[in-house]
Amino acid sequence: MGQIVGIDLGTTFSAVGYLDQQGPRLIPNALGDVLTPSAVGFDTDGHLLVGRAAKELQVVQPERCVSAFKRYMGTDWTIELAGRRYLPEELSSLILKSLRQDAEAHFKGVVDRAVITVPAYFNEPQRQATMRAGQLAGLTVERILNEPTAAAIAYGAADAKAEKSLVVFDLGGGTFDVSVVEQFEGTLEVRASAGEVFLGGEDFTNALVARVLESKGLVFERVEAEAPRLVSRLRQECEQAKKRLSSCAETTVRLPNAQGEFPGQAPVITITRSDFERWTTHILNRIDIPIRRALGDAKLSKDDVHDLVLVGGATRMPQVVDRLKWLFGRDPVCRLNPDETVALGAAVQAGLIDRHEQVEELVVTDVAPFTLGIEIARDLASRIRDGYFMPIINRNTTIPVSRVERVYTIHNNQTYMEIRIYQGESRRVEGNLLLGKVTVQGIPRGPAGQAVDVRFTYDLNGVLEVEAVVVETQQKVMHVITRHARGMSDAELQRAIAAMNRLKTHPREEAVNRFLLRRAERVYQELPLGEREFLDRLLSAFEEALETQNEEEIVGMRLALEEFLNRVDSSGQDDHGDQ
Ligand code: ADP
Ligand code: MG
Repeated sequence: MGQIVGIDLGTTFSAVGYLDQQGPRLIPNALGDVLTPSAVGFDTDGHLLVGRAAKELQVVQPERCVSAFKRYMGTDWTIELAGRRYLPEELSSLILKSLRQDAEAHFKGVVDRAVITVPAYFNEPQRQATMRAGQLAGLTVERILNEPTAAAIAYGAADAKAEKSLVVFDLGGGTFDVSVVEQFEGTLEVRASAGEVFLGGEDFTNALVARVLESKGLVFERVEAEAPRLVSRLRQECEQAKKRLSSCAETTVRLPNAQGEFPGQAPVITITRSDFERWTTHILNRIDIPIRRALGDAKLSKDDVHDLVLVGGATRMPQVVDRLKWLFGRDPVCRLNPDETVALGAAVQAGLIDRHEQVEELVVTDVAPFTLGIEIARDLASRIRDGYFMPIINRNTTIPVSRVERVYTIHNNQTYMEIRIYQGESRRVEGNLLLGKVTVQGIPRGPAGQAVDVRFTYDLNGVLEVEAVVVETQQKVMHVITRHARGMSDAELQRAIAAMNRLKTHPREEAVNRFLLRRAERVYQELPLGEREFLDRLLSAFEEALETQNEEEIVGMRLALEEFLNRVDSSGQDDHGDQ
């Protein structure tokens, strides 16, 4: 058995860690960063790029790259890259594989088991897709762990003696989760989770992009269709502007031309923090409802809460902090780096699974974030009406849990019954998500009212299993929910693994050089015409050195190139702040 790691597979950034004697630790990637952008691309000669190199390429050649695909996990969405179509779980597996290689380089040994985190509010198909992503990357997924729970573990492990109620807010790139957690006597008990899977920092960036275009009389959708390079470059400009506005009151963005370049006289647009806040209030407002719901389900008032824990890069925006202060009447805590907390917690959980002595004391319990149930018909004034939802496991029930409900045939001599399984909070099934069906056959003939017991078992990974038993005959039907949008059979999974393994990749030792080349190509496009020539010379010399494979020359040219880039390019330098 190889080493086990904890992985935060984020919408925008991912990270891998493990537990050692001193506590949880994150593992740096080949560029030395602990955060790897969740981006995948293919360079012109068909080699796979993952992380910062893919992010750099995305600015210049958006059609060769993809990011934020976590938003489509568990759906049929695909994207074509370098002549092949990819599902979200396949793209995620490329990120996982890259993190796995970083961990293997760190341990100088095999890493084949992982705890992978997901937003608490991820539904059944999204969790299944995440597990498949792990399998595709050659990892046994030992546990799917909710991100806010992981964050609570990171805080709890650091302060094991504490007794308090925490509310964890996780506003990342694409998702928002809020969890209410009670900590006492070495136990962390998640009392309730709520959230939205389409609310995150990316939405703030997109709003800024749309407003900047609008200020020039342009419509986002039109421009995106007609000039994708303009949009991808402007998005990068706006992403950085958004981050600057977290610490400055005013900043500027440059509007690129249709080719995504900045000619000498590129228009410059000034944006103030108050503009930005006004343009995004409608997005920020959406955090209130999940907060109220989580507190309500946990039967806690805001005055009962001891600590507000901030997780996720987007909680660096002052308007988010202000909103929470206003809602709770106190300052949030943020002792750990908000974009590393989840991975640290996943690392502790990985240690718990390995029964690491460091954390023997910590017991963690979690909840099912959604209500799960089945469709039933009701007899209304002697008319049978179907389409009603009967909950079997109510949301925010502690897991693992197993519950049974009895249902009855509605017609005489009815020998089979189709049980439709749903997730959601609506009274009628149309408002909920259909997860799958179980067909029960062989019900003995007789009058209506033959009983069938339906048992729902929800495990620690948040995966549901359904069992139906015909009461009279004790005949059983088992059904593991697999009606994800497009499930993979074992054969398909093996084929997908083989296809992922066939992709051309650069050796890991070359990652620094590949990243530098991509960054230099991007910066080249951004430079005024007069300054391009010098960079072109440096770049050519570097490429030549790579060609000749003379190590000394490569290092020399690399330093020269890096120095120049760091001087002219403010982005792409620090490990995560500005990409
Ligand atoms: P995820 O877990 O979804 O990958 P992260 O927790 O890493 O996300 O957060 C990424 C999001 O945080 C991005 O949308 C990014 O723009 C945003 N972000 C990071 N730093 C800042 C900052 N200083 N100000 C505003 N937003 C930031
Ligand atoms: Mg995250």
